[in-house]
Amino acid sequence: MLDEKTKKKAFERIAAIVGADHITRHKTDQILNAHDAWPLSEAKLRAGEMLPLADLIVFPGTADEVSHVLIVANELKIPVTPVGGGAGTCGGTLPIYGGIQLDLKRLDKITEIDHTSMVVRVQAGVVGIDLEEEVNRYGYTTGHTPTSLRASNIGGFIATRSGGSMSSLYGKIEDLTLGLQVVLPTGSIIESKAVPRHSVGPDLRQLFIGSEGTLGIITEATLRLFPIPEERRFRSISFPDVHSGLEAIRKIFRVGILPSVVRLYDPEDAALSFSMHFEFEEGHCMLLLAFDGDLKKVDIDEKKSVQICLEEGGSDHGEGPSKRWWEHRYDMYYPSRLTTGGYAIGDTIDIVATYDKLENVYHAMKEVMEEEDAIVMSHFSHMYPNGGSIYMIFFTSQPDAETAWATYKRIWDAGVAACHREGGTMSHQHGVGLSRSTYIEDELGSSFNVLKTIKDALDPNGIMNPGKLGLGVRE
Ligand SMILES: Cc1cc2nc3c(=O)[nH]c(=O)nc-3n(C[C@H](O)[C@H](O)[C@H](O)COP(=O)(O)OP(=O)(O)OC[C@H]3O[C@@H](n4cnc5c(N)ncnc54)[C@H](O)[C@@H]3O)c2cc1C
Repeated sequence: MLDEKTKKKAFERIAAIVGADHITRHKTDQILNAHDAWPLSEAKLRAGEMLPLADLIVFPGTADEVSHVLIVANELKIPVTPVGGGAGTCGGTLPIYGGIQLDLKRLDKITEIDHTSMVVRVQAGVVGIDLEEEVNRYGYTTGHTPTSLRASNIGGFIATRSGGSMSSLYGKIEDLTLGLQVVLPTGSIIESKAVPRHSVGPDLRQLFIGSEGTLGIITEATLRLFPIPEERRFRSISFPDVHSGLEAIRKIFRVGILPSVVRLYDPEDAALSFSMHFEFEEGHCMLLLAFDGDLKKVDIDEKKSVQICLEEGGSDHGEGPSKRWWEHRYDMYYPSRLTTGGYAIGDTIDIVATYDKLENVYHAMKEVMEEEDAIVMSHFSHMYPNGGSIYMIFFTSQPDAETAWATYKRIWDAGVAACHREGGTMSHQHGVGLSRSTYIEDELGSSFNVLKTIKDALDPNGIMNPGKLGLGVRE
């Protein structure tokens, strides 16, 4: 927290930039902004624990205003935590050292749709669903539909390297972002030109994608667009085990088919997600597929994929489970039935690995997490030709808060260690934030030093989102 003198000075100087109406010091706002969708932050608040609060929550309206606020913060050495939609799952927006929360929701304009190049220029605070619905009106899709589409905004997507449910076909946000405008911690505004590819040194744009507010503030982006497909077709296949399901997925990609959706639910997750609505053998997995494209292409891709699945021991369940998942994909989290009880807490470790390691990572993580008193259920989603991610979802219920938080940490420690041991990477799309920051050295090895050097060069006073991504941790 800032001392009263610095807080007053900061308020006066920042009010002169954004207007006093665009700063809040209300306790209610501070408490609401003290957590994001990181389950531990929510559970602690529910249990009545107080989390660190920001001193000021500032709402800039332009990149220029962002720049001037950062200049003041730098001069006064005040921590700045960017806030997008606040739906991140890793505690990235938590103002753990107080200071300023820079809420970017006023940067809410879709500046230009370029129909010739099929790109859209958009400000960081535009909510995902608003952009998708706007481009839909012109016959396009962004191809980026994370489950948090209604809650997160473009800056947050980019800052966390997020992944939509159709990333197998359209790619993740790092594939979809052609250009960026970023305000550096010292206040300079930089632009990376929006071009499909280039050969002018390293791709600096990628430095800021996934930087989680530790290297600067993303204020605008140019994103790719795709024509809305003529057809989107759903198909569901059950498998006797994870191995045969994964083999089918690997072989579908190997023949050159890129389904838009590929999600393999393990027996526990399949039972929870589908057994109430559909009949399939107990203990079986469920694979959901979707195919986007023109009618002819979709016919061919679907037919060949089903053939591969049947050859791998799958049983066809038509479009039912897959279509149902699609139609309910945004409402399944609200509210989370399994995490709202007394000292019950759950979370997801969204790891990623190549096919040669994926199954081992799954079994190793499941085993050690269950040993730590977790109920674990998983699905493999966001699959690609060379591998894919696993959502290792866990829940634990404990008699009191202290035991619950300690058990939660042990489950995470054990899960991430097993993932690393088996050659996986600890996040595919949720990021690092606070929840995974203690594991980042183990994840990155000696390359973590490169990240630290870049951080020190760009942010000499360490004001940008300290403590996140394992950077700028203070005593
Ligand atoms: C119900 C639910 C479903 C989800 N589904 C998915 C999913 O399908 N795929 C997926 O990838 N994620 C998913 N998430 C996680 C989360 O929504 C994503 O990580 C999302 O990208 C975060 O965006 P946000 O705007 O909410 O970011 P925030 O939570 O506001 O911020 C996330 C991080 O980015 C930083 N940041 C935010 N904006 C900026 C900016 N303009 N410049 C610099 N730094 C910034 C913040 O400081 C923080 O560190 C889900 C979350 C929930 C609650």
